[in-house]
Amino acid sequence: MNLLMFGPPGAGKGTQSALLVDNFDLAHISTGDLFRYNLKNETPLGAEAKKYIDAGNLVPDSVTIKMVEDVFGRLGEKGFILDGFPRTVAQAEALDELSLSTKKSVDKVIFFEVPRELLLERLTGRRVCKACGAVFHAAAKPTKAEGVCDECGGEVIQRTDDKAEAIENRLKVYEESTAPVKSFYREKGNLVEVDGTGSAEDVFSRVRSVIN
Ligand code: AMP
Repeated sequence: MNLLMFGPPGAGKGTQSALLVDNFDLAHISTGDLFRYNLKNETPLGAEAKKYIDAGNLVPDSVTIKMVEDVFGRLGEKGFILDGFPRTVAQAEALDELSLSTKKSVDKVIFFEVPRELLLERLTGRRVCKACGAVFHAAAKPTKAEGVCDECGGEVIQRTDDKAEAIENRLKVYEESTAPVKSFYREKGNLVEVDGTGSAEDVFSRVRSVIN
């Protein structure tokens, strides 16, 4: 089973991917996480991507596609969950080519439908652990001690691109560059729309019924 998690920033793609990985033997390919890993480790790729990510813009297609091609080359036989890729029609076309050459195609594209006010609420309140990546929410799921991760004791911060100005831009970039990818998959016939509101568990039970 190969799945693609699709939707605007804050739709819950990462949260649902993590729940899927806990329940099924799938590789989680998150381009956002891959970029953040490179930023943290100060690699040349991280240095190149930083200015785009901090401003809430997309990293250029050529850089992003090359990174995903490298990951596909190391996948082995496992099924995968793509999270945060493709974000442009050019990336979706590149993924089609990659599917042909690696014989690993996407079975279902799951689109999370979430109203804009809820996206804003989720993104502005999101806090993440710098060390282990655990995700919290300032109001809905606060850490027990301010700024300290409940899971590992690491430092919990707000992502630079979760600050108000970057969020506005990310939502604008989504509408302009990423939303057209939805029509691309709808035309292919493998797009499934899931109500992304409610708790992570509520959404996950909807995801389960879609993939069963
Ligand atoms: P995410 O964690 O998925 O919200 O991604 C964080 C940031 O990484 C995005 O705002 C972009 O700057 C960059 N990014 C992640 N995935 C892609 C992609 N497929 N294409 C271009 N930029 C991306």
